Amino acid sequence: MKFKKNCRSVEYKTSGWKLSENRKAITFSDKKGIGRLKLKGTYDLNFYSIDQIKRVRLVRRADGYYAQFAVKADVRVKTKPTGKAIGLDLGIKYFLADSNGNTEEPPKFYRKSERQLNRANRKKSKKYRRGAKPQSKNYHKARKRYARKHLRVSRQRKEYCKQVAYSVIQSNDLVAYEDLNVKGLVRNRHLSKSISDAGWSTFRQWLEYFGHKYGKMTVAVPPHYTSQDCPKCHHRVKKSLSQRTHVCGNCGYTEDRDIAASLNILQKGLSTAGHAGNYAWGDLPSWAIGAILSSNGGSENQESPSM
Ligand SMILES: [Zn+2]
Repeated sequence: MKFKKNCRSVEYKTSGWKLSENRKAITFSDKKGIGRLKLKGTYDLNFYSIDQIKRVRLVRRADGYYAQFAVKADVRVKTKPTGKAIGLDLGIKYFLADSNGNTEEPPKFYRKSERQLNRANRKKSKKYRRGAKPQSKNYHKARKRYARKHLRVSRQRKEYCKQVAYSVIQSNDLVAYEDLNVKGLVRNRHLSKSISDAGWSTFRQWLEYFGHKYGKMTVAVPPHYTSQDCPKCHHRVKKSLSQRTHVCGNCGYTEDRDIAASLNILQKGLSTAGHAGNYAWGDLPSWAIGAILSSNGGSENQESPSM
């Protein structure tokens, strides 16, 4: 099968394709000449009725072609309330710090594979002949090898984000996090490598997806002063980026900078959700949990993150 140059995917709605009887193959009936394709993979399409499939997209990746099926299904799953709420601070030093005082080390997938990636990239450039059309077979081999390595790293990162998001959602009823403008941050050259490595936006997508699926509340709060204010007495304690500890000059409260921030984020999240009353930060009283779940806003109309 051939895709047009610079075109990585073809999309179909409810026509132009047909699944085989056992649903292990798909035939495209339009004039693009794609024809019949075998379907491999772990998702069992037999679980769905054909009219639940709203879109089929063929995607070219470095290691082959993928058929994605957008299935309209009610993904909501009822769960028992955990009685817990959590604030997350996404950072550079840690992937995240939470309001329970836990930190998660940042995964350094790109950095770990950097040498391999660089080597593959150098091989690719060596085979490149300026002005040659077409380029040699060896060049294309090297190019594909490089692309496959990149794909592997980005899959590792996605999988990591998905797992962390899943476990956070499973153990809480409300999750608050900062509404960061990741694009704006990535423009800062020094931070950019760590930030794109961390995959915050992927993490957030999964968090909101699982929040929707399991009926949990996800709240993105404005990031202003979350790393400055004292979570206990709200006194503003100015610190530079390199100051790793929050030490309050007013009440004496001392805590890791990012954990203090996550406590502020949780408080902001709870008040955004309409509960600005007197709660002790940390666990919520049970009456608040019930109220939050029934108001359940925040994560409506989410689509599943693209795989
Ligand atoms: Zn204080």
